[in-house]
Amino acid sequence: MNSLETQTAGPVTETAGHRVPTDLPQSIRHYIDGEFVDSTDGETFDVIDPVTNATYIQAASGKAADVDRAVAAARRAFVEGPWPRMLPRERSRVLHRIADLVETRGDRLAELESFDSGLPITQALGQARRAAENFRFFADLIVAQADDVYKVPGRQVNYVNRKPIGVAGLITPWNTPFMLESWKLAPAIAAGNTVVLKPAEFTPLSAGLWAGIFEEAGLPQGVFNLVNGFGEQAGDALVKHPEVPLISFTGESATGQLIFANAAPHLKGLSMELGGKSPAIVFADADLEAAVNATIFGVFSLNGERCTAGSRILVQREFYDEFVERYAAQAKRVKVGLPHEKSTEVGALVHPEHYEKVMSYVELGKTEGRLVAGGGRPEGFESGNFVAPTVFADVPPTARIFQEEIFGPVVAITPFDTEEEALALANDTRYGLAAYVWTNDLKRSHNFAQAVDAGMVWLNSNNVRDLRTPFGGVKASGLGHEGGYRSLDFYTDQQAVHINLGEVHNPVFGKAD
Ligand code: NAD
Repeated sequence: MNSLETQTAGPVTETAGHRVPTDLPQSIRHYIDGEFVDSTDGETFDVIDPVTNATYIQAASGKAADVDRAVAAARRAFVEGPWPRMLPRERSRVLHRIADLVETRGDRLAELESFDSGLPITQALGQARRAAENFRFFADLIVAQADDVYKVPGRQVNYVNRKPIGVAGLITPWNTPFMLESWKLAPAIAAGNTVVLKPAEFTPLSAGLWAGIFEEAGLPQGVFNLVNGFGEQAGDALVKHPEVPLISFTGESATGQLIFANAAPHLKGLSMELGGKSPAIVFADADLEAAVNATIFGVFSLNGERCTAGSRILVQREFYDEFVERYAAQAKRVKVGLPHEKSTEVGALVHPEHYEKVMSYVELGKTEGRLVAGGGRPEGFESGNFVAPTVFADVPPTARIFQEEIFGPVVAITPFDTEEEALALANDTRYGLAAYVWTNDLKRSHNFAQAVDAGMVWLNSNNVRDLRTPFGGVKASGLGHEGGYRSLDFYTDQQAVHINLGEVHNPVFGKAD
């Protein structure tokens, strides 16, 4: 059986109003060398749905032996298969077909993703569209790709020969699983590599859909391999595998540090997209309504499980009270609901462990700031991982809820007086992923953007991505930037080839007399 979609329904628990997708697979398996397979040792782990927290399926639990099989298949496809040697135009056609298939299956994909992760269905649909767009973007980029040529008149022509590297190990988190997988799969494959994907253990359901999509689009066997399992087992084996020269990782900063150390003996290429505690800075001359709407969306969309969430809002004192009042009132109106309902704005957090972590910060926040909205379970949701959109005001920069990534629908608001103070507050965390600046002062907006410690800055805007721009963080938020041609740089070797056009350019040693 080659596609998850054709398998039949597994055991699930229904609760009031909760919708379970039809035709769920019976189990989640690895996909190695064109086949769905179980773990070598037969082990599985429980996967739960975040509305009921009931186990709805078993997933194959990958270990080193499974990673070995997947890497061997990927290596064979790289060394012997057609993919790395195909013309960019041919690879591009396959990638466009993948994008078409992702688009036509968007509804199914979003349904599975929303069920498995607790993301609101409308937002899961948006992420499915983004996944298709990622493939389209890299399909176009590899055809348009130009490489450098340098001339030394009369002496040399030197050019860059771009080559795929080999087997890329892709390790992804659970917050927007399918979209983040596409963010790595598309450039890795576009550049001619083969891959082993290790998706997050909390949300393995949608990753299996790639297999059917890739097969139908004509991706050769062995180019894409998938190993499910825990980070400390399957992920760790991938990081330490000697035949995987590249690891692209998105996840927590602490995990990134560990992976860095584990990859060091092999001198692997690493791309690290890590955690964040991004500030939204609102100056008194900003458009108040736009700033409130955007900063509400910025921290409560994707259930607040968003790496670039603007989870610290710094507000200039002149309209601090008005801002806090409007913000709290609006946060209370944000609609928490079942993930499959179209009107839901905040769904269920991914897993009870994560729910406990977020709730512990909510309790801590009550001792560190002034609670002005939320602060616990939303009314009417006595079970499942639901958290009311929670707002703390007057949060000092020393507070843990100001410093630490919560990764849930919880925001800290802090006042400032001057631009200098705002910048100091904005930079006063270990993270540096994104920053959002709200002001109508042109000079200030640019000066602030350039001074803030953040890999990405938006002026008078939410996180709206232009796929050509660099994506990544500074400080503890990551190392290396992907996005646009930088992703292709990461997934390729740029070999310098030098051609002599003139006299051979060296003194003659050992010359005969
Ligand atoms: P995580 O670090 O716990 O796990 C991420 C992935 O790494 C999972 O697949 C996990 O199984 C694997 N893993 C865990 N330990 C490993 C090990 N020792 N070796 C190899 N792999 C291992 O992160 P998470 O909880 O799944 O995701 C949330 C985090 O991801 C947040 O910190 C968030 O900010 C971050 N994130 C960052 C970005 C970004 O682009 N910067 C985007 C999304 C999420």
